[in-house]
Amino acid sequence: MEKILEVKDLHVHFSTYGGIVQAVRGVSFHLYKGETLAIVGESGCGKSVTSNAIMKLIPSPPGRLVRGKIQFHDKQLTELSEKEMRSIRGVDISMIFQDPMTALNPTLTIGTQLMEGLKQHKKISSLEAREKALEMLELVGIPNPDERLKQYPHQFSGGMRQRIVIAIALICEPELLIADEPTTALDVTIQAQILELFEKIQRETGVSIILITHDLGVVAKVADRVAVMYAGKLIEEGDKREIFYHPQHPYTKGLLKSVPRLDATEAELTPIDGTPPDLFSPPKGCPFAPRCPMAMEVCLRKYPKTKSLTTTHKVDCWLQDKRAKKLLASSSRK
Ligand code: SF4
Ligand code: MG
Repeated sequence: MEKILEVKDLHVHFSTYGGIVQAVRGVSFHLYKGETLAIVGESGCGKSVTSNAIMKLIPSPPGRLVRGKIQFHDKQLTELSEKEMRSIRGVDISMIFQDPMTALNPTLTIGTQLMEGLKQHKKISSLEAREKALEMLELVGIPNPDERLKQYPHQFSGGMRQRIVIAIALICEPELLIADEPTTALDVTIQAQILELFEKIQRETGVSIILITHDLGVVAKVADRVAVMYAGKLIEEGDKREIFYHPQHPYTKGLLKSVPRLDATEAELTPIDGTPPDLFSPPKGCPFAPRCPMAMEVCLRKYPKTKSLTTTHKVDCWLQDKRAKKLLASSSRK
């Protein structure tokens, strides 16, 4: 499989009045062509900061990409100028955000907004741009596209607006689409439709998708692989089945337990006790230790090494260390 994106050892900090927040602390992952990688975790875990870093949309100051490499095909995005990055954003890599209301300009017709990017980035006639805009509206399931091109955002429902936002993101045929909580602002039926739309688009265009979400139901539906983040670190990664059926990190296990099961008669939520650590001075050891039912003495002292369990499944947890397992076994025998 062809890798189109590789993020290595990404560190992002933010300066605030209270001090420096270490929002992303050494995150590495990759993305294959045509797949959907879901990045999941609680709010504040660094998942949005990670995706914004790929787009080079970290406001600086107060933000700063302290260290790390972001390779998209043969380009090191971290080394590109703002001008070079502008020729990639919206063209090779597109991003859509949670709120379809603020993503569209209320004073322009959706036709104008659809064609804007095309005219800016591709040498294309107005007629061709219009044809492409119609094609995109059809792809995202907007009926009567001819009529609809002339209308303004307020003439569409929330779900329709999110479809238009997706059409705008895809019109230049990007290879990578980053979607940050794309269904969170929508009601449940519309959410399901938008997720189906993502699947359809991927089948028809082969676009690779990074989906940022806190919703494991969304992950179950559309992801091929899953990366779990906690306190600025990527703590477990695997294909969807490995994460859902064989989670290894106690945090991932806790997350999955807190989701009502589809086959459960009573949807019982078991939230994980406690809160994530303060990222002004993150702990030296495992950041989950204060909440972890399996925590050992070593967890507080040292961050665990990443352990590969299969070619796709990786986890950062001391429980995967043979010596730690022995220690645990001997302490439980006492
Ligand atoms: Fe729990 Fe230790 Fe594993 Fe962290 S490293 S998740 S504290 S067992
Ligand atoms: Mg976010």
